Amino acid sequence: MKPIVLFGSPGSGKGTQAKMLTDCLGVPHFSTGDMLRDRIRHGNQISPMVAAKMHSGALVSDELVNQLVMEQITGPEASRGFVLDGYPRTLAQAEHLCKWLDGSGLREVVIHLAVDYNVIIARLTGRRMCPRCGTLYNVASRPPRVDEQCDLDGQKLVIREDDSEEVIRERLAAYDRQTRPVLDYYRKAGRRVVQVDANYDPPGVIFQRIRGAVEADDCSKNGG
Ligand code: ADP
Repeated sequence: MKPIVLFGSPGSGKGTQAKMLTDCLGVPHFSTGDMLRDRIRHGNQISPMVAAKMHSGALVSDELVNQLVMEQITGPEASRGFVLDGYPRTLAQAEHLCKWLDGSGLREVVIHLAVDYNVIIARLTGRRMCPRCGTLYNVASRPPRVDEQCDLDGQKLVIREDDSEEVIRERLAAYDRQTRPVLDYYRKAGRRVVQVDANYDPPGVIFQRIRGAVEADDCSKNGG
């Protein structure tokens, strides 16, 4: 199984698709956003400055995320493949990852989830999260059974600090500045980038598109 890099702006549905991919393929899902939040929650070797950066929508240092990702992808869990979500987000991260993959004889497939910004702003401002188990809901497209309560454990749902409209706009600007160029980097380097329309269809339909692209890629590498 080759590594899959899920690429797309905040709110493009990377987390949802990553979870569907890992359920279907049985490979782990590594999200740098989750890794960072997890460390902050456990007060684990993360400075208050990192948390402040995340809450403002800015990116944290390449050095820190490179290190977090390396710990995961070099571990035994990743030996049969993995899905990366939220990484690489800068050219320096992309170069770091490509160098490691090349050195390990691996070739990734990059899936670009393409979504219009107006669709994203509507999606993200409606997002709610369970503070205990992390389950995500959306008031428009995936409401909880009982208003504002988690279906799984009944906790009162919260709006993530980085889902306010002001912060969302900052995250989209950061994406345009720092992350969009990563796509050009992959394309120019002749690496495989598949664009998937992720605007309006339900997650299951988008997932089938991604799966088709991943399988087509595997077949072409195996000579049929
Ligand atoms: P979203 O995709 O919705 O922006 P994430 O959960 O992926 O949210 O990330 C939340 C925050 O964590 C980002 O705004 C950023 O501050 C930080 N972060 C996550 N991944 C990276 C990364 N690869 N490089 C730098 N910062 C990151």
